[in-house]
Amino acid sequence: MSIVRSHVLISIDANTLLAGAKAVEEALINELRKRGIDKEVGVIETGPLGIIGKGVVMVVYPEGVYYGNVKPEDIPELVEEHFVKGRPLKRLMIEEITTPSVVVKEEVGLTKRQVRIVLKNSGVINPESIEEYIASDGFDGLTKAIFEMKPEDVIKVVKDSGLRGRGGAGFPTGLKWEFTYKIPADEKYVICNADEGEPGTFKDRLILEGDPYRIVEAMTIAGYAVGAKKGYIYIRGEYKLSIDRMQKAIQTAKDYGLLGDNILGSNFSFDIEVRKGAGAYICGEETALIESLEGKRGVPRIKPPYPVSQGLRNKPTVVNNVETLANIPDIVRNGAEWFRQFGTEKCPGTKVYTILGDVINAGLIEVEMGTPLREIIFQYGGGIKDGKKFKCALVGGAAGAFLGEEMLDVKMDFENLKEYKAVLGSGAILVMNETACIVDMLKSILRFFEHESCGRCTPCRVGTKRLVEIINRFANLEGSKEDIDEMVNISLVMKDTSFCPLGQSVHLPVVSAIRYFKDEFINHFKEKYCVANRCGRKVGVLS
Ligand code: SF4
Repeated sequence: MSIVRSHVLISIDANTLLAGAKAVEEALINELRKRGIDKEVGVIETGPLGIIGKGVVMVVYPEGVYYGNVKPEDIPELVEEHFVKGRPLKRLMIEEITTPSVVVKEEVGLTKRQVRIVLKNSGVINPESIEEYIASDGFDGLTKAIFEMKPEDVIKVVKDSGLRGRGGAGFPTGLKWEFTYKIPADEKYVICNADEGEPGTFKDRLILEGDPYRIVEAMTIAGYAVGAKKGYIYIRGEYKLSIDRMQKAIQTAKDYGLLGDNILGSNFSFDIEVRKGAGAYICGEETALIESLEGKRGVPRIKPPYPVSQGLRNKPTVVNNVETLANIPDIVRNGAEWFRQFGTEKCPGTKVYTILGDVINAGLIEVEMGTPLREIIFQYGGGIKDGKKFKCALVGGAAGAFLGEEMLDVKMDFENLKEYKAVLGSGAILVMNETACIVDMLKSILRFFEHESCGRCTPCRVGTKRLVEIINRFANLEGSKEDIDEMVNISLVMKDTSFCPLGQSVHLPVVSAIRYFKDEFINHFKEKYCVANRCGRKVGVLS
């Protein structure tokens, strides 16, 4: 019998599938077979490795060598060098091992020194294998909850852990569960909000693609804690692989008695259904999502009443984001104190970020709450590509704030960012170099909000249109000082009078862009100058 000496974990996610991961996998299996070493080298499909923009990616263990941009035609050389001659094929390597992890797992490059709770299994196990999930402590949290804890105990451990909602608002998760638990009702619901619609944000997709059983387990624990028998996961319709993997995970968990009637022979029954979103950004707002789930047009409801008391079908409903829920199995399994060792006192745990834009390593990372922005961009992101200088980062997604160079040392958590009028938001960090135009970037953001405004309330419906008109003037190398003031005024009125978080958060990119880059707006109408040569007709020319 041959002993497997190496394992190749090939990332099969929406990005790598588009890049041809299946063809590379097939070529690899065939080449290993041709050389008679297919019994010594195991090829395993895994979820996202968290590396974006590098085509088909794979990691070889035990060496921990990462390869990127692998094509089927590279395979004979790769097999010859790595598995026959025993030396890594340097031209395809993403990064050499430089720094060991200090806490949860040992990784390289984008994943070095990460503290992985949510992404613990992502890129490690086969996301479609329940056996691999179980072997990685999967369903231990659920088993512990059902057989060793009362619902109140589960709520207490989640409350004590200090876990706050990772969907943007940062509301204490345990408190939300407690509200729902305490309201007597014949039916209650758990909803997982996977309607990720912001440009540049895809962390929830990668969590679902990489570890769907974690969400099945977490939703079931939530159902047990609050007294719900039914859960829905509302996934953005374009997330085909996430939907497929969740559906498979739900069915397999049922086959194993881990979901459905009398889970593991207990008195507790819980079922989960996948629902697809139709692409409206506003359906990421919890009450609009509920309206959509009820088959109505997805527009926000007046709050209060909040969903915890009157949510889906007017029954008490817990709505949690994917990343929030992904923390639950480990919190229940390991306890609140274990979770509180990570992050900061007021914001324990970790945060998953997507790093994009002008960085060397674009991708997905999970680090402790309180990690400075500088470390995220320059250590994990690898710094600014093409030898250019850092200009700013749009932190928190489109509904986030621009943070300039003087803000690089800000510690990233809910509380610290609040002080600087910024938010963690969707966890997206879009990095821009010195040649990026803020007017152009703000124009894209404002057009997005104008397009996605549901039109229900006047400040947002009209305000987004006026903002787009004004930013278009700057983009045409026109505008005025009064226009700058007007943009601030409109966005602040929207903040105070809009009905839901969409209209209420437009001021974040507008005010921060003007706070840090007012001169750039002035240059557009006064000097007819755009640093990126993107605005106006006489672009890039100093008058
Ligand atoms: Fe609709 Fe905008 Fe009003 Fe929200 S703020 S309800 S998205 S119009």
